[in-house]
Amino acid sequence: MTEPAHALLSASGSKRWLSCPPSARLEETYPDKETAAAREGTLAHAIGEFYLKYYLKHSHTNIALPKQFKNQELYNKAMLDYVFEYVEMCIEKINTALSIDKTAYIAIEEKIDYSEWAKEGFGTGDLVIITDKYVEIVDLKYGKGVAVSAVDNTQMQMYALGIISNFGFMYDFDTIQMTIFQPRNGGISSQEKSVKDLIKWGENIVKPTAELAYDGIGEFNAGKWCLFCRASLRCKKYSEYCLSVAKYDFIDPEFMSDEEMADALNRIEPLIHYAKQIKDYALSEALQGRTWPGYKLVEGKSSRKYSDIDAVISRLQKANIDSSDFMKEPELKSITELTKVLGKKTFSVLLDDLITKIAGKPTLVGIDDPRPEYNSPENDFEILD
Ligand code: SF4
Repeated sequence: MTEPAHALLSASGSKRWLSCPPSARLEETYPDKETAAAREGTLAHAIGEFYLKYYLKHSHTNIALPKQFKNQELYNKAMLDYVFEYVEMCIEKINTALSIDKTAYIAIEEKIDYSEWAKEGFGTGDLVIITDKYVEIVDLKYGKGVAVSAVDNTQMQMYALGIISNFGFMYDFDTIQMTIFQPRNGGISSQEKSVKDLIKWGENIVKPTAELAYDGIGEFNAGKWCLFCRASLRCKKYSEYCLSVAKYDFIDPEFMSDEEMADALNRIEPLIHYAKQIKDYALSEALQGRTWPGYKLVEGKSSRKYSDIDAVISRLQKANIDSSDFMKEPELKSITELTKVLGKKTFSVLLDDLITKIAGKPTLVGIDDPRPEYNSPENDFEILD
């Protein structure tokens, strides 16, 4: 029998199934659609793996990226630069470990089996370093949508439990350093935990919850983790959770308690996600012929486009229309587009002094977001005053 690509009790989904055990089996009934962001992440990981494995063999990375990567549709120079930041950080960690322990075990894209704690559980560690003093686990996150923190990150902790199971009896390490590197959002985030604390968490929380999750039982529990649950569209608990924000409908925010405000904020993001999911699902079903009471399909706002650009230009020229009346100057590409074409390093060398950084608007995010806290100009002013 071939092994499934993903474990039912996956490390990446552990926040969800540890919070809502029945979601593990419920998710199985919904298709797992691969997104472009996921394919982009897979390619970035493959490039990182290529260079790190090359480094371990040759002690340098002076080799051009092979065509098998470059020819991929989602590849661009900026990706290579971002991945290189990750590769350089990993090389530093590898060399530090080797300077402490020459026999350190180093593995790239290592399969980590944590089935001792969660039945049939396994995942992949992007970089795993095991020494007699400590363990280091590094995870590359190429996504830029949600910043992921390593602090109390259950995915990293599941990997840590797997390392303890499989290597704890051979090595004397007593701490595990877990690092997430997210070059396009948040940068580096790390947390160190003792083996003792991780085992305590594994025994008291993971084991009993994983048993419920494997059997598809336990209590449904909705929260931010529902955003990544395939069952969320049809989950009653999730819809109740999102819609319960309506209980604050008639309260002026001025008169809400701090707890009520925090509770409402917690539910707003899932509510927006839920509303979009409902609209997308209803439309895709309607396009397949399904009807919804009180709704009908209509054509959206139409747009016009030239059917043959060369023919349009030629006809305008023949009509003696001045070219300045129908042609426009090419525009400079956006910073993001140009970074993709030139690569991050070339862009930086050529243009860094011509880029003005406009401070981002303050945004309220959860306390576990890895970005540093915002210092408002008002606060600075108060301090100076
Ligand atoms: S949507 Fe949320 S509450 Fe519903 S099954 Fe998934 S994780 Fe559980």
